[in-house]
Order: sequence, then structure tokens, then C-alpha cells
Amino acid sequence: MVENDIKKRGILDPLVLDALNTVKRELFVPNKYRDISYNDHPLPIGYNQTISQPYIVAFMTEYLQVRRNHKVLEIGTGSGYQAAVLSLLADQVFTIEIIESLGDMARTILKKNNYNNVIVRIGNGYEGWEKEAPFDRIIVTAAPEKIPTVLVDQLKNGGRMIIPIGQTSLEQHLWLIEKNIKGIITKEKILPVRFVPMVHE
Ligand code: SAH
Repeated sequence: MVENDIKKRGILDPLVLDALNTVKRELFVPNKYRDISYNDHPLPIGYNQTISQPYIVAFMTEYLQVRRNHKVLEIGTGSGYQAAVLSLLADQVFTIEIIESLGDMARTILKKNNYNNVIVRIGNGYEGWEKEAPFDRIIVTAAPEKIPTVLVDQLKNGGRMIIPIGQTSLEQHLWLIEKNIKGIITKEKILPVRFVPMVHE
């Protein structure tokens, strides 16, 4: 998967490639899809949700430029796969899932496989994680219609956020939001994508 679908499509950061080689995607997909867990496409994980396509996980992770000492916030735990990948690169990963059963399942799998620096919370990502803010990095894996200002507020100066924005799956793009050392915010549109919507309740 990493050789064919990820490296060849331009993901170069050796730390990101290492992390993707290390995390067993099969652990995070339902049993019936185990055989195809390394194919480069999203897979259903129940509750109308999907585990993201590996290439997109790699792309977003590389763009995030996660460093060893970073505190990372993820919105949309889903299967827990993206959180597991991030956990190998960061100091701590805080991840929020709105569907209780999915969050509980991800927490169990992460714990069982010793991803001990990931903390899963059931909650609404639009509120962020005030108690743990600010974060060096924020990654959003469900698409809101516009950039949630609460999340931008919870980003550290010098921080980066990667987030899909758009109303329908046909007009979504990944955006990179940067907050510089002085707190000035810049936004850059990066790539057309397809994520499930970030819901309000
Ligand atoms: N990162 C996941 C893929 C996530 S799919 C993985 O690696 O598997 C998007 C997830 O976002 C879904 O599980 C969905 O339930 C969740 N979600 C949608 N709206 C949300 C919200 N407002 N707050 C938190 N999670 C949300």
C-alpha cells in the first residue's frame, strides 16, 4: 500500500511513510473488509461513516507537519486509524467523535494495541477541546460548511490546521489554515476531496 499508493503519488516524508507502514489498517476496519484493508479507498465502518482512504490520510498527515513534541487535536475519530498514525509522530493526540459507539470502539482498539498517547472523547467537534487547548496541530476529518472559528481559536500561534470545507461532496476542498507566531491567520485551498459532513448534533 505504502509503496504503490502513497509513495508513488508523491508522499515523501520518511516519518509519515514509516507511520503508515507501522499502523495495521486491518485492525481498524470491520472483519468482513480485512482482506481489502490495504486497498487505497475508504471503507464503511458502520453508522454511515467511513475510514478514510490511506492516500488521503498520508496526504493530510504530511501537510500537517507533525513534530515529536506536538499536541494534536483530531475531529472525527471514526475508526481511530488516523489517530493511530498521528500518535506515532506526535506527543499526544486528542480526538473527538460524535457517535458514541464509534468513539467507544476506537478507544478500545487503540488501547488494546497500545496507542497510549491517544485520548478519545465523545463530543461535538464544533466545540473543540477547550480544556486541552491550545493545540500545535488540528486535523478535521469530517467536512463542515465553513471553517469553525472555535477551532481556529484553539490553534497555537505557529500552528497548522488541515480541514475539508464544503457543503456537498461535490464541492469540498481541503484547506490549510496557518496561524503565524504573531497570531495572523492565512488560508490556502489545497485539494478537492470527499468527506462525510461534520454534523451539528
Ligand atoms: N478519521 C477517521 C475517519 C473519520 S470519518 C478514521 O481515521 O477512520 C468522519 C467521522 O467524523 C465520523 O466518524 C463522524 O461520526 C465524525 N463526525 C461528524 N461530525 C462530527 C462532529 N461534529 N464532531 C465529532 N465528530 C464528528
